[in-house]
Amino acid sequence: MRRVVVAVLDGLRRDLITEAHMPALTRFARRSQVFAAHRSMFPSATRVVSASFATGCTPARHELQGNTLALLEEGRLVYHDAGHPDFLQHKRRATGRSLAVPTLAERLSPHGGMVLFSNVSPGAAYAHDPDGHGHIYHRAGSFGPGRTPLDGAQALKIAQDAAGERAMVTRFIDEVLVARRPPLAIVWMGEPDATQHLKPLGAPDHLAVLRQADANAGRVIEAVDRLRDKGDDVLLVLCSDHGHQTVSRVIDVEAELMAAGLKASRDSGDVVTPTSGTSTLVYVHPDHEVRTAEIGAFLSERDWVDRVIPTAELASVGQASHHGLAFAVSLKSDEEPNAFGIPGRSFESRPVAGKATHLDCGQHGGLARYEQMPFLMIDGPGFTAGTTADTPTSPIDIAPTTLAHLQVPGEGMDGRALQSLP
Ligand SMILES: [Zn+2]
Repeated sequence: MRRVVVAVLDGLRRDLITEAHMPALTRFARRSQVFAAHRSMFPSATRVVSASFATGCTPARHELQGNTLALLEEGRLVYHDAGHPDFLQHKRRATGRSLAVPTLAERLSPHGGMVLFSNVSPGAAYAHDPDGHGHIYHRAGSFGPGRTPLDGAQALKIAQDAAGERAMVTRFIDEVLVARRPPLAIVWMGEPDATQHLKPLGAPDHLAVLRQADANAGRVIEAVDRLRDKGDDVLLVLCSDHGHQTVSRVIDVEAELMAAGLKASRDSGDVVTPTSGTSTLVYVHPDHEVRTAEIGAFLSERDWVDRVIPTAELASVGQASHHGLAFAVSLKSDEEPNAFGIPGRSFESRPVAGKATHLDCGQHGGLARYEQMPFLMIDGPGFTAGTTADTPTSPIDIAPTTLAHLQVPGEGMDGRALQSLP
């Protein structure tokens, strides 16, 4: 039986995969093909990458454009947190569609389906299957086809901690890989991302979590080996969705625009600036388009900016000007090490009131070097063990690669199958 198994270690940057802290992944690198130029999406954020992973398309096509974003609803620009469990259901009601392109869950539903276990935000988990074609297991609620709730013993009752992560992987192996045997099985672990947001990169607590995440990945690898021993033709994909930078300063983008007279107030709908950590999207309401050039000039002159991407250049980062998106901003970064010698610092954009900032700890979302350094290793037919590919790859390539192994047509995606790349 042809099968694809994917294990995602959220937020793991590839330069942190070392023998000392991640022995299972280091061993796996020797028997798989390693993609040394793998990048994240933009914003380099979990909800955006989840939608790209699920659809094989850039945010310009799937329309989940940031971890937080704005939608034009009945003539108003409305801020949304895409991590909210109801976000894509709301987007369907407000705009007529959840994601704008089909997911792997939808494409595979006539071919045996998909099962995903996830321990990240509800919105990121549900971005894999907002319209209810497969099975999604998440602590905020699990769903089968038709978005039928899976309750009782079926529900995933875990915490976002080491024990919860371990329990999720155990259930994924026993229940999904061994017993149910769907063509596509995905386990998306919340670590090391969750801890990296709370502790400095390279701190002892962080290194301990790397070892735990590595042990969980190692158990998935061993389980797949047992499936192969029994005759299954398994493509095994291990990857992350983005890396991390160390936050060196927090910028209140909204306050700066207000002080410059370019946004009326915190709650005003003329200009809305939802953040994805180290990047920010800037939406300008159509009634206030005359302000766009001035906003662009203002942003370009800030010392807290690496790159301002105007409408005409959004396609170059996989974005489009849906819902009045006028600019994408990647905040200032450098290559300096943090207190534990881990290189790569970035400024963080202050989120809405009540949400945490992460000074001296990890964050991501922009175009800086280390947040754009997720890992990708693939083991199975079409991939050469022990080799390294330097061809640029990104999360949009995983869906076509999955469908190629399963021999299911995969037209209409932005990514390409990675089997037997030159
Ligand atoms: Zn993530």
